[in-house]
Amino acid sequence: MAYIILEDCTGCDRCVDDCPNEAITEGDEIYLIDPNKCTECVGANEESQCVAVCPSLAIELDPNYQESQEELLAKYNALHAA
Ligand code: SF4
Repeated sequence: MAYIILEDCTGCDRCVDDCPNEAITEGDEIYLIDPNKCTECVGANEESQCVAVCPSLAIELDPNYQESQEELLAKYNALHAA
């Protein structure tokens, strides 16, 4: 599952640089996670880095993107293959 940033986001910017996949960008009002790039940090870290640093607890799993650990790892490897 990809993570999603909720409206509680205050735009503090702390999560952006910690994402190993450069999946987080600034939106019009809140920050956004690209579900095609989020691997739940599988392949890079033991825990989700954005969740760990968000002071507003504004990041949750998005049930619209169901993926297995194997699929998440394959996504990570594809993103970093170049
Ligand atoms: Fe990036 Fe990891 Fe957060 Fe996904 S869970 S957006 S890969 S920091």
